[in-house]
Amino acid sequence: MSFTLAIVGRPNVGKSTLFNRLVGKRLALVDDQPGVTRDLREGPAKLGDLSFTVVDTAGLEDATDDSLEGRMRRLTERAVDEADVCLFLIDARVGITPVDEIFADILRKRGGIVLLGANKAEGRAAEAGLLEAWNLGLGEPMALSGEHGVGMPELYSALLPISERFEAQARAAEEAMPATGLDVSEDAGAEEEAAWAPSAERPLQVAVVGRPNAGKSTLINKILGEDRLLTGPEAGITRDAISLKIDWAGTPTRIFDTAGMRKKAKVQEKLEKLSVSDGLRAIKFAEVVVVLLDAAIPFEQQDLRIADLAEREGRAVVVAVNKWDLEDEKAEKLSALKEAFERLLPQLRGAPLVTVSAKTGRGLDRLHAAVLKAHEVWNRRVSTARLNRWLGAMIEAHPPPAPQGKRIKLRYMTQAKTRPPHFVVMCSHPDKIPESYSRYLVNGLRVDFDMPGTPIRLVMRGQG
Ligand code: GDP
Ligand code: GDP
Repeated sequence: MSFTLAIVGRPNVGKSTLFNRLVGKRLALVDDQPGVTRDLREGPAKLGDLSFTVVDTAGLEDATDDSLEGRMRRLTERAVDEADVCLFLIDARVGITPVDEIFADILRKRGGIVLLGANKAEGRAAEAGLLEAWNLGLGEPMALSGEHGVGMPELYSALLPISERFEAQARAAEEAMPATGLDVSEDAGAEEEAAWAPSAERPLQVAVVGRPNAGKSTLINKILGEDRLLTGPEAGITRDAISLKIDWAGTPTRIFDTAGMRKKAKVQEKLEKLSVSDGLRAIKFAEVVVVLLDAAIPFEQQDLRIADLAEREGRAVVVAVNKWDLEDEKAEKLSALKEAFERLLPQLRGAPLVTVSAKTGRGLDRLHAAVLKAHEVWNRRVSTARLNRWLGAMIEAHPPPAPQGKRIKLRYMTQAKTRPPHFVVMCSHPDKIPESYSRYLVNGLRVDFDMPGTPIRLVMRGQG
């Protein structure tokens, strides 16, 4: 017996997109099923190793018969009645609207298990909306992006205990014995990490970006040549990025191409029209971005821009210096590169720098290892208990300043999300905390919890 999840929320928050992601290719079958009404779409969903039924309250926009609000209310109530769990979505880019409040009200009144998802949370535009979502009084919001797959580990961990409870109930019913109840183990985080390691179903998503001639296509073809192309060039998640699914040294990987590979893969027509900016789009779809530099002309303006963009988009970053076979004084060159990296890209401090030759294949194993490590760190969750022990020590070593004699109290901190790691510090005067103190904490987190190659977000929040 599996459970039923209803996705509810006002039109346009991304319900159908998330529904499609959860149902995947089986969607076509779903639509043909008799008995599925037009306004409540239902389908078998899979998330990691969890199977359940998902219900979507789509089709509201077509409402013409009566008031949207009345219809919305009835549909939502029906979905909520039919479901075991509700996932209430808001649009994190818009923030909380009055209509969202109406939904929150319905859900609070109905009771039952409600999960709150701040959707469209890829990128920074969603940060304010994510924090605002706490105000709905429905618990901690999960940062999700149905379109880009952000937050699926969080959704998985939220659904896991529910699924376990249903399974336990099913077993208990079979054995005619009372259910033993919910197992919300402290170690859910560990399971989550294991569940989200790259797999054939959820390949590691990598983008190789860099200036024209840096050697991107040579690099990708080298990887393909050695590990063989598993599935041909295909349209990516959206129309405007193309990707290849490959097995990179044993890791199921989806590589997003930016330029070059296209012509070699003989994919023509509309894809040909794509501009340089699809490099920027590839960044949005990637989990790990490999910034490929040409050793002869490293850290040019364009390289810096693209690396900065990857950081701002919250991607794990690995810097690869290519054409290393052409360099003579390798040791001197390497230390000069490292110095330039620290000076020119301080925001990427700690990101790995790997020297490679796409032509000969040297260094590609180290590149693979660095990409995997960056991905692991990007997904990492630090427990609240460890964070607060750490915060105590950091404050003791170096207390926050006291502007105008007013003491700032840092009360506690927690990791609000992963991919990339995102921390919230609750404090008394968030606006009075200088940038330098936030940097002190971020750098400390990076070193003490060994988090290279991933952007770290830290937000100071006051308590109302
Ligand atoms: P619904 O009305 O709630 O079912 O919303 P849809 O799934 O139809 O999505 C509404 C719009 O939001 C569409 O244009 C989607 O492409 C867009 N959208 C959906 N999910 C996301 C997301 O995670 N991020 C962003 N940026 N846009 C999204
Ligand atoms: P892209 O525009 O970034 O895709 O770059 P290409 O892969 O087309 O490579 C540009 C040029 O650099 C080609 O002439 C490649 O043969 C050359 N190249 C790429 N990688 C290497 C390398 O590791 N060593 C050397 N010596 N040449 C390389």
